[in-house]
Amino acid sequence: MTGLRQRIDKLFDVQLAVWPLLRANRRTLSRLAGRETEAGGERLALLFNPERARSTVAPLDAESVRRRPCFLCATNRPPLQQAVEWRTYQILINPYPVLDRHLTIANGEHRDQRIAGRTTDFTALAVELEGYTILYNGAKCGASAPDHHHFQAVLQGSLPLEQKSGTDDGRTVWWSDPTGHTSVWSLADGLRRVIGIEVKFSEITENTRELAAEKAAVLMETILAALAECQPGEPEAKVNALAWADATHLTVLLLPREKHRPVRFFRDDGGQVLFSPGAIDMAGLVITVRPEDFKKLDSNMLEEMFLEVIPSDVDWREMTKNCTRWLDKNP
Ligand SMILES: [Zn+2]
Repeated sequence: MTGLRQRIDKLFDVQLAVWPLLRANRRTLSRLAGRETEAGGERLALLFNPERARSTVAPLDAESVRRRPCFLCATNRPPLQQAVEWRTYQILINPYPVLDRHLTIANGEHRDQRIAGRTTDFTALAVELEGYTILYNGAKCGASAPDHHHFQAVLQGSLPLEQKSGTDDGRTVWWSDPTGHTSVWSLADGLRRVIGIEVKFSEITENTRELAAEKAAVLMETILAALAECQPGEPEAKVNALAWADATHLTVLLLPREKHRPVRFFRDDGGQVLFSPGAIDMAGLVITVRPEDFKKLDSNMLEEMFLEVIPSDVDWREMTKNCTRWLDKNP
């Protein structure tokens, strides 16, 4: 087990021992109602977790964000919350977890949520934090602190999309290096548009995991730049991202987004659903925060909301064209 993973396991044990809120919320987590469902031909898991309401319904307009104390800044964190330092980040145990051992990885400084220029942190963390999947929510794609840069992490294998992306089914290869060790592919399923980056670890090279992280970060930057061209006026391409490393590969998934929240979120009639999807939801674990939403969500409603927040067919064609052009130009 890697040194970082050991430090995080220890942090978790210490925090459980001293922090009653974390103990209570972890107990609640194990008793939450959940059910399996299907939408757009894809398998989804639904979870009812009222503790996540604060994050789901958080007002995210610039003025509301500016006026509230930032919960990721060290000065505003709960006094019992401890951290493991990693690069310019502090790794924290989320006291309102979506899944067991849910981590928040907060930048040491209060800076906007951006991934461009920080992809090396994202991919390096994926190879160093063994057994975890690292997540990123763009500022307009589910991040509850758009003003404070952060990642999240959950235990590997908790999300339906991780399992699905382990097979070649339905993939279109966009680019691969001559050795075949690195590839970029896309997958359009019934609910999402996915861009995958896969780097195979070499058996003969030293530091192969670190080199793979660097390679994946360069490809991520290329794709993010190509996607950003398709969304002019935005501070960065709107995406959710996931990254994890197993014994043989580093995998990064980028899920381009069009909208932050579906119109149903804002309805003031019986059709309202408080669904504000981030990477976890987009990866197939849909978090609901009200019992009525958990009960009424059906395949049609889910499909409608997913398709509303992802790029349209026309935009996806444009993104595909631009990404492949950039990859051919800047491999
Ligand atoms: Zn902050």
